[in-house]
Amino acid sequence: MEEPDLIFLTPAEAVEAVRMDADLYGPQDRMWAGLRRLLARRAGRNGEGLPPPPPASRDLALGLADAACADVAACAADLDTLAAALGLVFETRAESGTGPDGEPGVYVSTGMESFTCQRCGHCCLTLSFHADCTEEDLDRWRLAGRDDILAWVGGGGKEPGMLWVRPGTGLLTEQCPWIFQEPDGLYTCTIHDLKPGLCRDFPGSRKHARLTGCPGMGRS
Ligand code: SF4
Repeated sequence: MEEPDLIFLTPAEAVEAVRMDADLYGPQDRMWAGLRRLLARRAGRNGEGLPPPPPASRDLALGLADAACADVAACAADLDTLAAALGLVFETRAESGTGPDGEPGVYVSTGMESFTCQRCGHCCLTLSFHADCTEEDLDRWRLAGRDDILAWVGGGGKEPGMLWVRPGTGLLTEQCPWIFQEPDGLYTCTIHDLKPGLCRDFPGSRKHARLTGCPGMGRS
């Protein structure tokens, strides 16, 4: 089962992915409560010992997340239950299967097959891009001879540094220096074919798009 929008996770990787989702997106009280109910049903516990209804406060929501992550870890050996849990957490389809080397695990769809960038500029204009670039980014720009891009990397592009820093000042830019608004109002990335991995990987999934306000997934 090799499709570009499918990611294979072993049970251990799946548990780690659920934990990362909790760390990345913070309180998702309804989702975590729903996950706990799902896992309790699957485990035949009929909901016994579940926490109270979805809480409003951040601390309680994180408590739910911790409990749900622990439950996912406990059920990870049951691949069908694990797939159901991942489908709920990542708002996508997931099914048990066998990995490239024959190992058991779960295939999770990113949903990216239905993504079309609307060129609205929301990601470039409002989401944070101040992160270190990677060695791969530097290699791409060096190979292309793009010293003009390297000049906007913190430290002058000699090693992975912050995106983007105004050359000669050490000051972070307020806006991405590579975005351009066309006369029709849509936005163009002027280094699209060479843009950093951070931008290439956005959005990573249907859920990522929803939570960051990207409209590229349409309504499906
Ligand atoms: S927010 Fe989404 S649709 Fe809009 S420009 Fe960015 S990737 Fe494209």
